[in-house]
Amino acid sequence: MNDIKLALLGSEGAGKSAVLVRFLTKRFIGEYASNTNSLYHKRFSIDGRQLNLEVFDPCSQSEESRCILEEPLDWADGFVVVYTISDRRSFLNAKNILVQIKESRRETCKGEVPICLVGNKQDLCHSRQVSEEEARSLAQENKCLFQEVSAAENYLEISNLFTKLIRHVMEQLKHRGDRRRYSGSKSMAKLINNVFGKRRKSV
Ligand code: GDP
Ligand code: MG
Repeated sequence: MNDIKLALLGSEGAGKSAVLVRFLTKRFIGEYASNTNSLYHKRFSIDGRQLNLEVFDPCSQSEESRCILEEPLDWADGFVVVYTISDRRSFLNAKNILVQIKESRRETCKGEVPICLVGNKQDLCHSRQVSEEEARSLAQENKCLFQEVSAAENYLEISNLFTKLIRHVMEQLKHRGDRRRYSGSKSMAKLINNVFGKRRKSV
């Protein structure tokens, strides 16, 4: 069975947890714990194949800090980079994060890094600060997938974007002989406890 590891990145309040919870449970609950890192597990079936999906949802990140710990950048096979369409700063932060992902993968990843840029809170389009065209061209420049969504109102687009991203990750893993795995003293369990805190969730 394939293991697929995804990490959500983006400004505090962009809706990372809301997007993820919508994907995992089909629900929008409005308020999400924001003071801990969480690692979610889900069995997922795609194109008839069973996958073990692990998704890292980091606790709030201040915009000034470098996007997060380096380990999730290292750990994840693919990324969901979330900004809010009504908050230009979150978009600029997403732009930075794309650069950081590319930098961290330059030496080890020969192909493209699977990333989906997600413009969340599409329901707030009356106070839009980032046009869809601008975001789409940022995604094209960075060879990422792109989708505007509303975690508050829709499930389907979110489900589709995760499915596309997971397919992309599966393709990359198939073609990549250099996939890094943690071994020896730096076992995965230890890494998760050290980096992501003790909280693990199953859905
Ligand atoms: P995170 O810090 O990136 O994990 O952001 P959260 O998922 O905690 O969301 C921050 C706030 O935005 C919460 O109050 C959510 O209810 C709200 N929110 C998330 N997604 C949406 C959305 O699609 N539309 C609207 N209107 N609010 C949203
Ligand atoms: Mg959160």
